[in-house]
Amino acid sequence: MKKHNFSAGPCILPQEVLKKASEAIINFNNDELSLIEISHRSPSFVSVIEKARALSLELLGLENKGYKALFLQGGASLEFLMVAYNLLNKKAAYLNTGTWSDKAINEAKHFGELVEVASSKDKKYTYIPKDFRIPEGVDYFHCTSNNTVSGTQIKEFPETDVPIVCDMSSDIFSRQLDFEKFDLIYAGAQKNMGPAGTTLVIIKENILGKVERHIPSMLDYQVHIDKDSMFNTPSVFAVYVSMLTLEWLKDLGGISFIEEVNNKKAALLYEEIDRNPLFEGIVAKEDRSTMNATFVLTDDRLTSTFNTMCEAAGISGINGHRSVGGYRASMYNALPLFSVQVLVDVMQELERTQS
Ligand SMILES: *Cc1c(COP(=O)(O)O)cnc(C)c1O
Repeated sequence: MKKHNFSAGPCILPQEVLKKASEAIINFNNDELSLIEISHRSPSFVSVIEKARALSLELLGLENKGYKALFLQGGASLEFLMVAYNLLNKKAAYLNTGTWSDKAINEAKHFGELVEVASSKDKKYTYIPKDFRIPEGVDYFHCTSNNTVSGTQIKEFPETDVPIVCDMSSDIFSRQLDFEKFDLIYAGAQKNMGPAGTTLVIIKENILGKVERHIPSMLDYQVHIDKDSMFNTPSVFAVYVSMLTLEWLKDLGGISFIEEVNNKKAALLYEEIDRNPLFEGIVAKEDRSTMNATFVLTDDRLTSTFNTMCEAAGISGINGHRSVGGYRASMYNALPLFSVQVLVDVMQELERTQS
């Protein structure tokens, strides 16, 4: 690997996955046909999507617990609306912890009454609100587990009898949680699982069928479940690469294994951000994301020097989101610990040469 890819998404994927994926483009399963030129109903592809669905549930520990896994299209952004279409009858509760939660709220409010239980917008989403109450009787509670833009992450989810819907786009499969707490989980593949073009949706089937409105087929979770995630042509390449990444993760030892690696990577970088006087973090320490670390230089005049040094070291993709500025180092599952060490070395080199 020539570059250290800290991109926030689409993001780094394991080299061996990329290699297998590229081979499948030319000759899939030794059938002398490309993965992307065969029928999605061929046994070869059906077994891919079935494996991807099964592995998703297996890795999350949700097999045989009433959950179904779907690979849909339209990105996590379409789920903002589909969730409300399928689940919002009268009233839903939303926690606003960042740009993506805000967008989810803006889509859902067309379908019923929304209660924003808490928001960290007042401090530019630099913390996770903790003391809030979920009103009884709402159809569901929606939250974003990891805030990709600002770099915060929910560490503890609320105890509630209300169904919990969670946008896990940027930290799914990165840490062990009690996934049975959630009734619907969705995640765009391109953050921690595969290329852009497919969205994993995990649904506890018994939460469906409770809204009164007519749901168009393409937006109806039940239709996709009944058709085994093949209501229309799935995004075959994105599903295949996601399946390869899930296999890679399972072979490594699953979520509990990768969580340890992710914790090491995050600890290494945050320790340097806190130690090095030339850098500072921008979010509340207890809410720091293990996936996306955001930080700034304490002296703006060092920006071009630091950028040049990063580039020379092969570091790619650490510019902050356009709405936040500064830096954001994304450390998704496939990023090796070594890449974080390279970044930390450059930060230390900057301190040695510039202070
Ligand atoms: C990237 C992202 C989205 C949007 O995903 P799309 O697939 O581009 O629609 C939604 N939520 C979170 C948390 C994200 O990181």
